[in-house]
Amino acid sequence: MAFAKTETIWMNGRLVPWDQATVHVLSHVVHYGSCIFDGVRCYKTERGPAVFRLRDHVERLFDGCRIYRMEIPYTRDQVEAAILETIRANRMEACYIRPLVFRGYESLGVDPFPCPIDVAIAVWPWGAYLGKDANEKGVDVMVSSWRREAPDTLPAMAKASANYMNSQLIRMEAAVNGYAEGIALDAYGYVSEGSGENIFLVKRGALYTPPLTASILPGITRDTVATIAREVGHTLVEERVIRSDLYLADEVFMCGTAAEVTPLRSVDDHELGVGPITRELQNEYLDAVHGRGRSRPEWHDRLPAHTYRR
Ligand code: PMP
Repeated sequence: MAFAKTETIWMNGRLVPWDQATVHVLSHVVHYGSCIFDGVRCYKTERGPAVFRLRDHVERLFDGCRIYRMEIPYTRDQVEAAILETIRANRMEACYIRPLVFRGYESLGVDPFPCPIDVAIAVWPWGAYLGKDANEKGVDVMVSSWRREAPDTLPAMAKASANYMNSQLIRMEAAVNGYAEGIALDAYGYVSEGSGENIFLVKRGALYTPPLTASILPGITRDTVATIAREVGHTLVEERVIRSDLYLADEVFMCGTAAEVTPLRSVDDHELGVGPITRELQNEYLDAVHGRGRSRPEWHDRLPAHTYRR
């Protein structure tokens, strides 16, 4: 996907033109992956643009920074306000939002402590992550030969840039083999997650999803889908899943802020149908993010509906 550039990016407290939002090549983050980030979406709703579960995304950003001893020089409220300000400044009606906290330019020893903590927020329009027809028709995926990090190597709970080198191996292996995405097992052989999505299975009417101990990112979409599933009366079980469960499931889907709810058409060439429970939860999810149906004010941070160009 080429960038659909927007006008300004928030960097360390001020808005700078998109092309000037640069870092020095000797910044710690460039060499050692020292960055925690998040991915958030703002949706067009009938009552104006609304950021979906902003507080939860910011909380996860702070949690990741805490694990890596990165003290963000702003409060949660300030980061939330800066995200809303960046959307407003770019007059976005619907967009993807990428807040980043990273170790900047000071010294290049592995020890990160001397380096400053830089914060940036960018927004841009971003459509269907796994391809145009993905949400409708589903995608074909493979189980990756790459495993997720063991819990005592890189903590999967932190959305750290370094973890995405592992995600890239998973994603590239899938791509060169003709699949839309890869599913990684954890270090112990249990199903973990996709390179950028969590996973749910449906079997005999009940939903299953791997637990947080399976080296997964605690996905906010995962939590949203779980909440909705329980509300509409489904049984949801968080338990270890093995590879063959994926083949024998009635339905499997992936979910994430970028991917939303994407049905799987096949796993390792074992055919799966796009089933009714996936479709129901996909519709419920899209209603929730667009502010339709059941009212969930706690999930939306609204922006005033004027001066938007997209
Ligand atoms: N797992 C990984 C590895 C991810 O990158 C993402 C996307 N952030 C997810 C799961 C889904 O998380 P969320 O629903 O919060 O976007």
